[in-house]
Amino acid sequence: MCALQLADAHAHLDMPEYAADQAHVIEQAWRAGVGLIINVGISLKNSRQVIATAEKHPWIFATAGVHPHGAAGVDEDILAGIGELLSHPKVIALGEIGLDFYRHRSPAAVQEHWFRRFLDLAVLHRKPVVIHTRDATAATLGILREFRQKLGGGVMHCFSGTYDEARVFLDLGMDISFSGVLTYPNAKPLQDAARRLPLDRILIETDAPYLSPQPRRGRRNEPGYVRFTAQTLAELHNLPLAQIARQTWNNTCRSFGINKLQTGNSL
Ligand SMILES: [Zn+2]
Ligand SMILES: [Zn+2]
Repeated sequence: MCALQLADAHAHLDMPEYAADQAHVIEQAWRAGVGLIINVGISLKNSRQVIATAEKHPWIFATAGVHPHGAAGVDEDILAGIGELLSHPKVIALGEIGLDFYRHRSPAAVQEHWFRRFLDLAVLHRKPVVIHTRDATAATLGILREFRQKLGGGVMHCFSGTYDEARVFLDLGMDISFSGVLTYPNAKPLQDAARRLPLDRILIETDAPYLSPQPRRGRRNEPGYVRFTAQTLAELHNLPLAQIARQTWNNTCRSFGINKLQTGNSL
């Protein structure tokens, strides 16, 4: 058994990039010390796939949601479909949802409309949310403030803002998840945020197959590479890697309401 227990708080195991070797990638993650993966859905169809993958592994959990890129394709039936998936025992959160004004694949007003509707759904089902926000911090904060009293928390995934922005999200009850971007030499503002934030509010993720950490940059990302982000976080906090692994594992379980006994890792 591995000496580490690492949690990858955000991966996409059911993307075409893993069509040929998904089982191998999952096994490699386990060998690298990963004992908990949150497999994130980006559409109704993909959410069904991530749930099917989670059903095969006691230590993999699923979310159901529609990425803001797909907001223009959402309708009431899709919303209802996501709502149904939320009662599946392996689905621990609603997401990823949010706003992406960088690529603008769906109009801003449409993204904001469905973001609110999905947040309503999370409140109804009492699920935490996984939030994607890119070039849309002010709008995301505005909408989250509307839900402040109702929402049961969640995670700002692949956080890429400043310390001050992170603090505002923390005050709204959201935890902050850092991806492999934290390992990039030019990510100084992000590293500053990670250094100053309270360790009990920080998660780590790969967002695999995207955003490979520095030592694997340019290649397909995998959940096993979450170790590199853990290592950078350990250096920033001047703490042993094992302590960072344990803390971020516990934070992931708390953020998503996962009973530690439910997970497959026997450490
Ligand atoms: Zn995302
Ligand atoms: Zn994602």
